[in-house]
Amino acid sequence: MKEILKRSLLFVALVSTLVSTISVNAEGIELGDVNGNGTVDAGDASEILIESALRGAGQGEFDSEKEKNADLNCDSVIDAQDATFVLIYSAVAGAGAEITVQEFIYEQLPELRPTEPPTEPPIEPPTQPPTEPEPEPTIYVDPNNITYVFNTKTKKFHSPDCRDVDKIASENRQDFSGSREDAVNMGYSPCGHCKP
Ligand SMILES: [Zn+2]
Repeated sequence: MKEILKRSLLFVALVSTLVSTISVNAEGIELGDVNGNGTVDAGDASEILIESALRGAGQGEFDSEKEKNADLNCDSVIDAQDATFVLIYSAVAGAGAEITVQEFIYEQLPELRPTEPPTEPPIEPPTQPPTEPEPEPTIYVDPNNITYVFNTKTKKFHSPDCRDVDKIASENRQDFSGSREDAVNMGYSPCGHCKP
C-alpha cells in the first residue's frame, strides 16, 4: 500500500509540475474540484490520492460532498483512477479545450452517460368529434299527390309527367308533394322542358 501511495504521489508531483501553472477557470466546478478552489487541478488529484491512501487504512476524511466530487468515475471508490482523471482533465482544459468535467468523464467513460429520457410523444390535440352530417330535410311525399319530381343531382324540379323524369337515375330522383314555392325555397329550379 505504501509503495502504491508513494508512486501515486510521485506521479502527482510529476504532473503537477506540468500543469501547476494552468488554472482551469470554470464557473460552478464541483466534480473533481475536491478542495473547492474553483479549479480542477493537481491539488485535487493530490487530495484524492491522499484520501485513497487514508481510506485504505480505514481513516478516510472526505465528507459525502467531497466524496461525490472526488469519485469522478462513479465507481464509489476514491482511488488513483479518479486522481488520474482529474489530472488529465486539468491538462486537457488547460490546453484550451472547452469541456466540463462531467462531459470529459462521459467521453472517457461513455457508459456513465445518462440515457436520454424517452421523449414524451407530442400531445395530440383532442380530435373534434366528427360533426354529424346535417340530416337531410325529410321531404313530405304523398304518393297520391306527387306535385313535382326533384333531380337531387341537377337541383331541377319537374312536373311528374315530364319526359325527363324517366331519365333521372333512381338515386337522384326524389318525389315531392308540395308547392312550387317550397321547391324553389329548397334550392330547386324549374326544368326548362316541362317548365313547371
Ligand atoms: Zn322537366
